[in-house]
Amino acid sequence: MKIASKEVSAVSLVKEAFEKAKKYEDKHIFVSLNEENAIARAKEIDERIARGENVGRLAGVPYALKDNFLSKEGNTTASSLMLEPFHSPIDSTTVKKLEAEGAIMIGRTNMDSFAHGSSTENSYFGPTKNSIDDERVSGGSSGGSAVAVALDIVEFATGTDTGGSIRQPASFNGVYGLKPTYGTISRYGVVAMASSTDCVGFFTKTPDDMDLLMSICAGQDKTDMTTLPDYYNETPETEVKRIGIIKDFDNDAVDKNIRDALAKKVEFLENKGYEIVELEMPTLKYALAVYYIIVPAEISSNLSRHDGIRYGYRSKNAKDLGEIFSKSRNEGFMSENKRRIMVGNFVLSSGFYDAYYLKAQKARTKIIEEYNKAFEKVDFILMPVSPSPAFKLGEKVNDPVSMYLEDVMSVPTNLAGVPSLAVPAGKTKSGLPLGLQVVGPRRSDKNILKFAKVLEEDE
Ligand code: GLN
Repeated sequence: MKIASKEVSAVSLVKEAFEKAKKYEDKHIFVSLNEENAIARAKEIDERIARGENVGRLAGVPYALKDNFLSKEGNTTASSLMLEPFHSPIDSTTVKKLEAEGAIMIGRTNMDSFAHGSSTENSYFGPTKNSIDDERVSGGSSGGSAVAVALDIVEFATGTDTGGSIRQPASFNGVYGLKPTYGTISRYGVVAMASSTDCVGFFTKTPDDMDLLMSICAGQDKTDMTTLPDYYNETPETEVKRIGIIKDFDNDAVDKNIRDALAKKVEFLENKGYEIVELEMPTLKYALAVYYIIVPAEISSNLSRHDGIRYGYRSKNAKDLGEIFSKSRNEGFMSENKRRIMVGNFVLSSGFYDAYYLKAQKARTKIIEEYNKAFEKVDFILMPVSPSPAFKLGEKVNDPVSMYLEDVMSVPTNLAGVPSLAVPAGKTKSGLPLGLQVVGPRRSDKNILKFAKVLEEDE
């Protein structure tokens, strides 16, 4: 990100970003553009540069904001009707930090409504198309953000990852996507999905850009009690020697292109002198089932605040208070949101709590232990992000279970709270991007990014 050197003005950069955004209008990347405000901010930054003022590390850099980050600019809708009329009175901590460094938000990106999904097909505004193939999905839930970066409209975009929503769209579009260690970046001002797994992260074109964003946004925030003290900028450099690959996932359920991409990277690493260690992680296969109990439970609780009274959408057909709640929620939520609310209430209900929710929490502990053990044997794990490259629009939309299966390799890290970076790993013959993920122990985010630079040499 080379800005502020006066070679190129912030205004021209921002205008260029809008030109590109409009050129790709058919991809349906943005749910709203922030043109007037963005150009005004760019002018201000150019003036400050001309006066020789210190303008920050992201001065004039255009970025895209996932539609579930609150910001005073425009409406934050989480791509749902429920919040479609919602104008936020506050900026999320991430927006504040990025803008304090001079970044300029050019628009809000499309996502699955309330981040429930893996393709953006659950968006109230309709899906985002894949960056290179109009018939395929962008991935999700942060599909718009991934495509905005892949098509070079912006330098970076924000995302949230509850069970893969940054890494999967990143890999479907050939960019970097980081889900940091749980608690690294404040979630204050981000529409909550599942509070015990939600993470804020980014999409970038290089590991170095990711590092810069992390160094700006990581750190404790008194308005988010789950944030960790800033370990990121204090991370000691570790030597990486042993890379784990998980035997349990090496099977026919994974697309051959992805298995080949993994094998190619493994060979490259072996040639560079890394030791490759085969790991058995048998509990990981339960992660998907555990995720789809714990996450809906948290969703049902987090979405209870959307009642048609306090903010957001209110049904016009309601005759009394009861109907305001029920009709607003029925009309405002998408069917996937409602499915999760129902599953969540079911697994938390008194007769089923022990059998489902409590059992899932116990299995979650086992998953955490399995990662702890794995990281005694290896420094990082290299594995696929998802079982296939970008699938066709409409292919899974009527089959929630096959859509959920998409998340089988991305959710374990969220349950364990460990960091994971999606890295580009070549393409299929027809040009579809492939991705792998580097998973590390808690607080190893910075070293993962360093390691990603080694993998980058093999492009
Ligand atoms: N695809 C996963 C889900 O539908 C993950 C979503 C996310 O990370 N926000 O739950």
